[in-house]
Amino acid sequence: MTKSWDVIVVGGGTVGMTAAIFASRRGGRVLVLEAASEIGGTLHISSGRMSAAGTKLQAKKGIEDTADEHYDDVMRICRNTADPALVRLAVDHSAETFDWLCDLGLPLVPSSPVYDHPGSHEPYLKPRYAWGVELGRSILRVLRPQFYAEVATGNVAVKTRTRVHSLIQDPQIRAVSGVRAKGADGGESDYFGSNVLLATGGFAASPAMVAEIHGSPLYSIGAWPQAQGDGLRLGRAVGGYVRGGEHFHANFGVVLESYDYPAETMGRAITMPEVRPPWEIYVDSRGDRFVAEDERSIDARERELIALPDRRYWIVFDERALREAPPLMEFWSRDQMVRTLGNHVMFQKGASLEELAHRTGMDPARLTATVTAYNGAFNGEDPMGRKHRPAPILEGPFYAVRQHSTLIVSTAGLVADAGLRVVDKHGRPIPNLYAAGEVLGSVATMGDAAANGMLVTPALTFGRLLGEKLLTWPSL
Ligand SMILES: Cc1cc2nc3c(=O)[nH]c(=O)nc-3n(C[C@H](O)[C@H](O)[C@H](O)COP(=O)(O)OP(=O)(O)OC[C@H]3O[C@@H](n4cnc5c(N)ncnc54)[C@H](O)[C@@H]3O)c2cc1C
Repeated sequence: MTKSWDVIVVGGGTVGMTAAIFASRRGGRVLVLEAASEIGGTLHISSGRMSAAGTKLQAKKGIEDTADEHYDDVMRICRNTADPALVRLAVDHSAETFDWLCDLGLPLVPSSPVYDHPGSHEPYLKPRYAWGVELGRSILRVLRPQFYAEVATGNVAVKTRTRVHSLIQDPQIRAVSGVRAKGADGGESDYFGSNVLLATGGFAASPAMVAEIHGSPLYSIGAWPQAQGDGLRLGRAVGGYVRGGEHFHANFGVVLESYDYPAETMGRAITMPEVRPPWEIYVDSRGDRFVAEDERSIDARERELIALPDRRYWIVFDERALREAPPLMEFWSRDQMVRTLGNHVMFQKGASLEELAHRTGMDPARLTATVTAYNGAFNGEDPMGRKHRPAPILEGPFYAVRQHSTLIVSTAGLVADAGLRVVDKHGRPIPNLYAAGEVLGSVATMGDAAANGMLVTPALTFGRLLGEKLLTWPSL
């Protein structure tokens, strides 16, 4: 493979497959270099929930919706912290992407589209949220045959187990003309092309990059293992820059196996008040409450958690809650909970609140004061504004379950303009270099929040638009 390509796609995932399909249909000669042993990227594990306005499905169900309303909703949810030009590009073209997948036979769950679902993030004001019966894999099952049909035409070549580690750039004119990659056999190769598309995904599987960019430990890995931040490094090395480090976003938490980070997930406490109204209180590592535990807005709950210095907390309850409340841990029996409490580092038990504080590292005086204040306000207003208070926390022994915030996507990413060209700090495009998907960071299309479906749909849409029209090459 020493010829020059019209498009070199770095990463054969959500963006990369879609861009290759559409560039090939325009007659482009496309090389896809993929670090993993198979294509598909994050679609293998993603929930693949999409949002799109003005779709055929909505029309069929009598839902009137527009891209403008979708845009306003996304900006409302993220408090205007996303990139307006990229949100606009995404929402203006999402319906075509969604309709294309549906026309190809994407098997949607019958209730689609919806405003939200239990456990999702902030609801939209219109039902425009939909997903396949096998989540991200449903999308992959539809995309993969389309991709290999283009491979069969001879327009697309794909090399798996090939990691791109640097870009080839002319230092005089800053133009990128190719990539350097290490292949499956360990050998180095250079590939040249008219366009290079960074479609490598983010860095949510790299503890080092999460620490560097967000100043936070990576407690567990929920991302595609190849999400190592290569695209950000490649872009930076040729003059691009990264934004969004200050907009760290993480999910409300899981229970981990150990404190040896990144650690495996052991289970999930049910912290969605709409699914299980809480009996417990949530306290930070010192022993202070930080949120109304029955707060319905997951965005509000996550913002309070992210504001804690270590972004983790304890769920504290008493013997009565253990006995009378619905099970706290998802899929765990009461017996399993009883066996684990006091016998695992994340499940602590104390005869008194003071003992529980000593075992968890909390400040005994603070924890006692917190519980006393919670109990003392039962005839009046809860100090945090909580409404659902089934019983005070009085009956020993007392328990604490450790929750760590989790990261499945990376917030920060390279900066690109509305043509998806990677730009430098002065806003000047780096010639021939494009980027789309999570390499732009979730900040690009979701800002500092999580707007439902606003990663996978933009990734597919940007890939399609790049292949269809944004990328150009001399033979066109
Ligand atoms: C558990 C989970 C659930 C999610 N649920 C949703 C959801 O419901 N809705 C939503 O909108 N978003 C969701 N997301 C996010 C969304 O799925 C991703 O942001 C999106 O799929 C990323 O697409 P991408 O093309 O940028 O990256 P990917 O699909 O990950 O593709 C990147 C590809 O590049 C390859 N690669 C990386 N580095 C190199 C290199 N140096 N050289 C060559 N190849 C390389 C990778 O192996 C990968 O195949 C979820 C993510 C996760 C992890």
